[in-house]
Amino acid sequence: MQVPAYYADTYEEQARTQVAAIGERDGVPWVAVGHCLFHPQGGGQPADRGWVDGHEIAPVRDHDSGLVVAMAVGEDALPVFSVGQPVEVRVDLPLRTAHAALHTAGHLIEAAGRAQGWVLAANSHFPGQARIEFTAPQPDARLDTPQGREEATEALRTAIDRAIAEDLPVTWENDDEGRRVVHLTGLHSAPCGGTHVRSLGDLADVALPTLKVKKGRIRVSYSATHRERS
Ligand SMILES: [Zn+2]
Repeated sequence: MQVPAYYADTYEEQARTQVAAIGERDGVPWVAVGHCLFHPQGGGQPADRGWVDGHEIAPVRDHDSGLVVAMAVGEDALPVFSVGQPVEVRVDLPLRTAHAALHTAGHLIEAAGRAQGWVLAANSHFPGQARIEFTAPQPDARLDTPQGREEATEALRTAIDRAIAEDLPVTWENDDEGRRVVHLTGLHSAPCGGTHVRSLGDLADVALPTLKVKKGRIRVSYSATHRERS
């Protein structure tokens, strides 16, 4: 009934599809489309922005139906749609690729942190506040001094720069339980419903300020962009 098209192709910008369902949330109408280009907020990643027949929408996961539903943004109310009606859908591709780059860089930092012996504790891939948090099951003396924290951060930067230089492919598959598992080839695998770049060479401007340790958490803040696309 609804296909999450953003799983298969991060870079698909527009499509012709049909209305799969209509409904209301808190009295506000929504429309769900069959070929869904729109990633809702989830897994630490912000929602896409898009358009249905030219009307700006924000996608939201409707937990009653399980569908990704599109809701009007701002003053522009959605028209009355009917199930089966053909519609044009479009996603804000620059925003999409910016989110995909930040999110994929988060996976890469997670992989680099695990290689240091740390365990993932939390993540956020929101622009301007992206960070990965770890715990260290084994005491890590480097984390007790400013110089040691800078050395630990530099070890992360080195691993990240190498993976980007190797342009490792980012792939996915459904596992035996039907979960979507994302692979940074040869480096890292995780169940994930987010959007990703095609390969790590798509990442640019990955920057990690010196990590911080707060309340037993190793906090690695970061920024990243998508390389310019020709
Ligand atoms: Zn992911």
